[in-house]
Amino acid sequence: MNQLILISACLLGINCKYNGGNNNSEKALELVKEGNAIPICPEQLGGLKTPRPPAEIKIINGQKHVTNQEGEDVTSSFQKGAEEVLKLAKKLNIHQAILKSKSPSCGKGKIYNGNFEGKIVDGNGITAQLLMDNGIEVLTMEEYEQKEE
Ligand code: SF4
Repeated sequence: MNQLILISACLLGINCKYNGGNNNSEKALELVKEGNAIPICPEQLGGLKTPRPPAEIKIINGQKHVTNQEGEDVTSSFQKGAEEVLKLAKKLNIHQAILKSKSPSCGKGKIYNGNFEGKIVDGNGITAQLLMDNGIEVLTMEEYEQKEE
């Protein structure tokens, strides 16, 4: 069997996105059908409900804080979700994850700037960062598709 990978559940059409929707990708679904990919949603694993207010990351005193649009600090839920995903990766000896771009959990390389104004800045989501810090390769779905072409 091929090496297992983690994949953002919203890419499979699961309605786990903050607004109750998804980011369906046929390519992502193929990976799961082939038996190679395990779906995860860090925000739900962190105990957040769906739908939920959108959240963005802001750096305060050098620390990442996640705040939702209602002004609530949801950093601990985002961290808990990230730790659950890392736990699963370790249990299953997973070394790669394909995650949804720009999300405050799953985003890699680019995220929203924390002001809910639709502006993108350099940075990683909480889960993407924790996985990378633990030696797991993270690709956005777009990067994965480019690699496959
Ligand atoms: Fe998708 Fe990740 Fe957001 Fe869950 S946390 S909805 S998997 S982008």
